[in-house]
Amino acid sequence: MLNSKSCSVVEPFLQAFNQLLTMGNVPLTLKQQNRRFEMLTKNEIKNVVSTLPVLCDLESDKIDLVVERVTKFLEEGGFDNGKGESFIGGVIGNLQDNPVFVRWCLRLILELSPKPAESFYRNIILGTVLDRNYYCEKFKKEHGIEPPVTIVINPTMRCNIKCRGCYAFNYRDRKDMDYELLKRVLQEAREMGVRLITLSGGEPLLYKDVFRMFEEFNDMNFLMYTNGTLIDRKTAEKFASLGNVMPGISVEGYEKETDDRRGRGIFSKIIEAMSVLRENGVLFGISCTPTSRNSDIMATDEFFDFWMEQGILFAWLFTYLPVGRDPDLSLVCTPEQRNRLRQVCHQYRSKKPLFIGDFWNDGGCVGGCLSASRYLYITSDGLVQPCTFVHFYTHSIKEHSLIEILKSPFFNAIREAQPYNPNLLLPCKIIDNPSVLRNIVKECGAKPSYEGAEHIIEDPRVVAFLDRYSSEFKKLADRAWEEEYSKGHSFVIPFIGRRDLWKFYGDRMSRAEKNYRNEKHQRKQVKSEVQKRELHE
Ligand code: SF4
Repeated sequence: MLNSKSCSVVEPFLQAFNQLLTMGNVPLTLKQQNRRFEMLTKNEIKNVVSTLPVLCDLESDKIDLVVERVTKFLEEGGFDNGKGESFIGGVIGNLQDNPVFVRWCLRLILELSPKPAESFYRNIILGTVLDRNYYCEKFKKEHGIEPPVTIVINPTMRCNIKCRGCYAFNYRDRKDMDYELLKRVLQEAREMGVRLITLSGGEPLLYKDVFRMFEEFNDMNFLMYTNGTLIDRKTAEKFASLGNVMPGISVEGYEKETDDRRGRGIFSKIIEAMSVLRENGVLFGISCTPTSRNSDIMATDEFFDFWMEQGILFAWLFTYLPVGRDPDLSLVCTPEQRNRLRQVCHQYRSKKPLFIGDFWNDGGCVGGCLSASRYLYITSDGLVQPCTFVHFYTHSIKEHSLIEILKSPFFNAIREAQPYNPNLLLPCKIIDNPSVLRNIVKECGAKPSYEGAEHIIEDPRVVAFLDRYSSEFKKLADRAWEEEYSKGHSFVIPFIGRRDLWKFYGDRMSRAEKNYRNEKHQRKQVKSEVQKRELHE
């Protein structure tokens, strides 16, 4: 593992790098820098990279490996469509603002096998991050909207274990997705420029054509949420030779918490799976569901340290939401627990080279809710939901194309309402702005994806809980937004640096204010109508 170092140690690297991008002290234009960047010689790269031991105590024998990999990436190029300029801008910006990013990149370079490193570079850095502008402009010209960044697909809802409270249990009777249908979806996604597919379930490794899909779509990376129990040495070797599979293994805390929810012995199997993934240089991480019972365990440095020691490169946190039939409301993290998670994740990722995504606390990093815009969710039987947790749909992928669904009234209404709140610490239409979900589902006539899914908007017990929860959390979030982030004018986005969100997200922030005012007005009207009706009755 790379050690923690202060910002100032980036300077030698930055100076050496900047020197390369000037000629006789005359600064190059971005276009010239781009060309120069592609023509860097191995020696020049070595000179720059050699300053890295200062940054992270890299042993000298590792330098050759770093030089080798970086040279190969640059030789491969792929800096068309203006990607080179963004790449250089990103490298310089991160070195200045965000040295932890450099250490995370070094982890990728040093810990991954050649294929996973190459796929990550090609499909994520070039394909997903740097190509995004090009595809957005192209797609916007043709369709008036932006394409998604990722699509979540459930190839199967079958699972080899049975965890308590798993939402997938609600979809348990569904058949596996037909491979021809899955192929069509992936081809449509590819044409929109999508290079990151998220697999959920059920257990994706039970899907019969899963490896065929990885092979046939090797220009895409697959973030695969898995229980980890089917990953043995042979499977890890296969992942390493394919390169484009990134398993996110579900954990609930340590051994006690994981075995308690997932079944006895599951924790040991996960540790074994991680050990073979690590040995084979596969890019893998964890996926966690913080609840009121385990959130305090997760909101600690020790928790992330423990899993970093097992070799994880990313951690996703999906706080438990009371979705589905008769949800257990006592499992939802208290507002204080959720706030604490936000603080711990925020601090941890500024110190250690780990990618942490805290789904409900990181709205500021992505400009608010992503549903129906930057991602969507397809069930194994083809129903298309705006997101994993909004269990409502109007269209099936069996009868409509992805583009038709993205342009449907349901998805349009959601996009137009985004962001729902100018405080991006309150990004969600389920738990932070529950009236938004109720209104849109009603207005668009969206149907529940399974019997009982409607409880989230109709069950008086759940509705009252969400109204109370959202207003309690709002108090904490408003204070944090003001005191810690200067109302969004000073927000640290991991791997990007400190930004003024009002400039960074431009129109989105003003739209958020307008949407919130409208929504507030509507809420007031509904409330007074209800009161009038009650008085009359
Ligand atoms: S609706 Fe909530 S859960 Fe779904 S993407 Fe938006 S913020 Fe996330």
